Amino acid sequence: MFNVERTEVAPASLAARREYAGEDVLSELRRIFYDKCYLCEIKDPTSINVEHFDAHQGNEDKKFDWSNLYYVCGRCNNIKLAKYNNLLDCASLDYDVFKLIKHLPPHTPFQSKIIIKAMDDDEKTIETEKLLDEIFNTEKTINKKITGKYLRKKIFQKYNRFLELVNTYFDDELPQNRKDDALERLQVLVSKKQEFSAFIRWIVLEDNQLNNLLGDYID
Ligand SMILES: [Zn+2]
Repeated sequence: MFNVERTEVAPASLAARREYAGEDVLSELRRIFYDKCYLCEIKDPTSINVEHFDAHQGNEDKKFDWSNLYYVCGRCNNIKLAKYNNLLDCASLDYDVFKLIKHLPPHTPFQSKIIIKAMDDDEKTIETEKLLDEIFNTEKTINKKITGKYLRKKIFQKYNRFLELVNTYFDDELPQNRKDDALERLQVLVSKKQEFSAFIRWIVLEDNQLNNLLGDYID
C-alpha cells in the first residue's frame, strides 16, 4: 500500500448528489492514486471502481462524501465488499501505510504464496493484512485475466527488473555511464508512483546497502 494526499476541495459533480463516479471524480481519483488500485497497486486496472471506503449502505452523506471515495480495481473491490470495513486508511496523515504492512515479492514467477505481514498489532493493521493476504494469495477472480497467480507473476517481473538494475549498478566491469543510468532508474523505481511499489520499497528498506543508496527516494 501507499499513502495518498487527497485534495480538500471535492470535485463539482458530487454536490448534485446524483452520481458519485462522474468524470471529474474519476479523473481526480486517478491522479491522486497515481492511476493504481489502492490495495493491490495494479496500474490501469481493466475495471476500475470508485469504492466507498466506509460502506455507505444507503447513507447519502457517506455515498457522496469526497473523503470516502477510493480508487480500486474490480477484483480487490469484489474481495473487500462489506466484509472488510475496518482497514488502514491510505489517505490518513497520521501514519505511513507502507511501513505498517510488510510486502515481500516472490522469488520465482510461479511462487504460490507471498509474504504479507502486519508490523503492528492494532485491529486495523491486522484486518488490512488479512485482506491483502486474500488479494495476493488466493485465486478468487471476477474476470478470467486477473487472478492472484497473475498478480504474483507481474510483481515478480517488476522485482526482476529492479534486481537487473541493482546488478548493473554494482558491476565493476561496466562503464560509469551505464552505472549512472541504472542508479537513476532505481531512484525512479522506488517511488510510490510505481506499480507494486510496496514490494520494491520493502526490499530496499530491509537491506542496509540498498537503503543507503535509495532510502532518500522512498517518498
Ligand atoms: Zn486491486
